[in-house]
Amino acid sequence: MQCLHLHHTLKKTKIKYCWIPGYVGIPGNERADKAAKSANASREAFVPLIDALQAVKLSQHRVWQRIWDGQSNNKLYKIQPSIKGFGNLTIRKHDAILTRLRVGHTFLTHRDLLHSNPAPICNGCNCILSVEHILCQC
Ligand SMILES: [Zn+2]
Repeated sequence: MQCLHLHHTLKKTKIKYCWIPGYVGIPGNERADKAAKSANASREAFVPLIDALQAVKLSQHRVWQRIWDGQSNNKLYKIQPSIKGFGNLTIRKHDAILTRLRVGHTFLTHRDLLHSNPAPICNGCNCILSVEHILCQC
């Protein structure tokens, strides 16, 4: 705007415009050019936030997995040794049923806890009834 105003002020004066490359012989421009190049150099060494967050997330997952691996006697570790999860089913009811089967918590196998009764026994082999027993052993 200052250039435009100056141009209007001097409109009766004959002015010749010419383009001069910014870096040629003008000390201020050369310093600005140098500063711009150094800014670009530091920007190249900068890690984008999304990459840094991803690295932190991966590192945290490794720590959690190590902690989880240390709990190999936990009955849930046997069901899901990885902390990544199973993923969800689209129908909530199906997801709940599948989760109950995975962890072995069903009314059939755990109703004794609600009613203070002895654990249910398998009719086929007289051992304690569990989801794993029903699906994998009996
Ligand atoms: Zn059985």
